[in-house]
Order: sequence, then structure tokens, then C-alpha cells
Amino acid sequence: MPYDPELRGNGCPVFKKCGGCQLQNLTYPEQLRYKQGRCVALLGRFGHVGRIIGMEEPYHYRCKVQAGFAKTRAGLVSGVYQSGSGRVVPVEGCMIEDEVCSGAVAHVRDTLRELRIRPWDGRTGDVRHVLVRRGLYSGELMVVVVTQTRQLPSKNAFVENLLRRMPGITTVVHNVCADPLPLTLGRENEALYGAGSIVDTLLGKTFRISPNSFYQVNPAMTGTLYRTALDFLDLKGSETLLDAYCGTGTIGIAASDSAGRVIGVELNSDAVRDAKLNARMNGADNAEFYRGDATAFMEAMAERGEKLDALVMDPPRAGSSARFIRSAVKAAPERIVYVSCEPETLARDLALFTGSGYRVRRIQPVDMFPHTKHCEVVASLTRDSASR
Ligand code: SAH
Repeated sequence: MPYDPELRGNGCPVFKKCGGCQLQNLTYPEQLRYKQGRCVALLGRFGHVGRIIGMEEPYHYRCKVQAGFAKTRAGLVSGVYQSGSGRVVPVEGCMIEDEVCSGAVAHVRDTLRELRIRPWDGRTGDVRHVLVRRGLYSGELMVVVVTQTRQLPSKNAFVENLLRRMPGITTVVHNVCADPLPLTLGRENEALYGAGSIVDTLLGKTFRISPNSFYQVNPAMTGTLYRTALDFLDLKGSETLLDAYCGTGTIGIAASDSAGRVIGVELNSDAVRDAKLNARMNGADNAEFYRGDATAFMEAMAERGEKLDALVMDPPRAGSSARFIRSAVKAAPERIVYVSCEPETLARDLALFTGSGYRVRRIQPVDMFPHTKHCEVVASLTRDSASR
């Protein structure tokens, strides 16, 4: 059903308490205009900002859903953590969550209820939260149950009960996390059922995703985002490409058919393990992946005097570092494609590149996160001929 462009989402009963969809009092076309304006204000000084690519159906796009649990007078509830108080706000029917994922959360809650497994309340109890991830194209569904200690009471009964309610679940993982921050995962994962990870398909490649690995939350738009990045990279077939902040290797592997050699670097060891496996699974034998800090890796490359033909970088919201950029300039890639999830830090980093012999060619916002204030931007830079 096509969505109504006049619709405002502020009918959501937990709008204020949740805080997740900051722009829901605007219609979707208004949201896109707002994001476009923000990108122009922050990035317009570097060049023309392309018209933001929005979603056709900007609802239920999040294929990664997390929920906390709390005991109330009405019984066990699941929902989001209220920022500030840390209390669980019960949520039924979130407009941005994938409905299969939301359904899985409800089934986990009902299973916990039935088996009288208690939520962790900060002092006692067991289950802290649940993470659900769905492969949009593969249909695979992963449920990760996070407990405070190694103990998950009635473990076998839990899995059995849950699968009976929702046979479409392809894997159930138990994660242990004592970190006081809400919605974090611990390092330890035990597959209680299935492979302990799921796969999904993007741009004709298959990717394995583990509980702790980063993977874009909006797979319907990820193809558009990566296609834009690949298009801006404009590889001819023989280039050496560095994929920095590579996660599970998605961009580098998608680019591997049109590059000579792909090198990926990523901090999270689980993501690197997935990236190596993903390269093998897709026959990308020209792709290699390393675990490490992108800045340290880039500095070491520059010190060895190694050169790059192309660089794609996709750092977290904090952006990259001045040291990374200084070393990247020494490796002298003809083309740099910067995939950013925070236009503010992108502006800061582009200023460093343009001050070191690079010119911004294209800037393309992509709306990966409708109804929220967040905005993804792909920017491409080329080396000035004077600095060659
Ligand atoms: N390009 C990937 C991942 C982008 S998210 C994709 O599209 O799926 C950003 C990634 O940067 C995360 O995987 C995170 O673990 C990683 N990261 C964060 N800080 C880093 C650092 N200092 N060095 C290398 N990788 C880092």
C-alpha cells in the first residue's frame, strides 16, 4: 500500500517518551526538505549538494530491532529504554521497525512471560534485552537474548517455546553482557539454535552477519547507498582500493569485481571475521581484511610509502581523524569516496581533505533513517592535478 505523503507520524503514542523519531511531526516530504536544507547548510560550501534520495515506503524499514523488558503491574512488558531515566517504555507497533522483527520481540516477551523468566532490573533478574535482525532478502531471522550473567533459566524450554510460536526464526543466540549501558552486547555468544548468524544479499553478493557485527539497519536503502558509493568510485578494474571502517566488508566486496585489489580495515574483530568469510563466500579472492584502528593502519601504510588508487571510508558518526586524513593524503588515492552518517563531522573532514590537495566532486544525501534526524551522505573527492 503506498504511504500517504500527508501523513504525520506524531500519532505514535510514545513519541515523546521514546525520542527515536525526532522528525515525526513533519510529513515525509517535509522531512526530506529539512534534511536537504541541513546538508546544504553544512556541505554547500564544498559544492553542489544533490537532491536527497528518499524511500518510497518510509515505514517499517528497520531490520534491526532491540527491546528491553520490565515487570509492571500489567505483567512483563517489552519496549524501548527512555533516554535519561533508563526506564522501559512499552511499545506496540512501532512505525519504523520491520514488522517481522517487532513480531519476534513480542514472541520473546510472551515466552519469557510464560516461563516466568525475569527481566534484569539493575539488581536482580536475568534477561536484559533482545536483539532481532532480519535478512530482508534472505528471510533469515536472528534472535539474540542478552542476559546479565551466564545464566539463562530454562534455556532449552525457552528455545522450544519461542520456535513453536515463531517457526520462521532461523537462529537463536545467547549473549552475556554485564555492561551497565543499556542495549549493549557482550563479547560472548552461544548459538542455542541454528548457525548463530544470518546471511543477507546486497548487490548480488551474500553477506554473513554476526550478532556483534555492524550491518546497515535499513537494507531496502543500503543497495542505493552502496550503488551511489560504487558509482562515485568509478573503478576501472585494476585499482588498489582501501575500504576503511569496512564492517563486514560489504562495500569492498561489492566493489571487488571492478578493482584489482581490495584491502579492508575494521576495528571490530567479529566484523573482520565476517568480512573474511564474506570474501570467500563471494569468490572475492582479491579482497583481504585486517583488524585494526583505521588511523593506525593508514599511518602504517603511509610510512611504508604504499600508494592507493582509491579509498572508500565509512566511519561512525564521530567521523574520521585528522591523522587518518593526513596519512590518506600521503597514500595519494586519485579518488576518495566518503560515506558518512553525520553531515557535521563530514564537513569537518572534507575541510581537511580540501586543504590538502583534494577537491569535492559530488555530494549525495541518502535517507537511510526516515522519521529520525539522521542523514547519510556520500561525497566523492578527486586529487587536484596540481598536487600530482
Ligand atoms: N562500511 C560498513 C561499516 C560502516 S559502520 C558498512 O557499510 O556496513 C562503521 C564501522 O567502523 C563499524 O563497523 C565500526 O566497528 C568501525 N569502526 C569504528 N571505529 C573504528 C576505527 N577507529 N578503526 C576502524 N574501524 C572502526
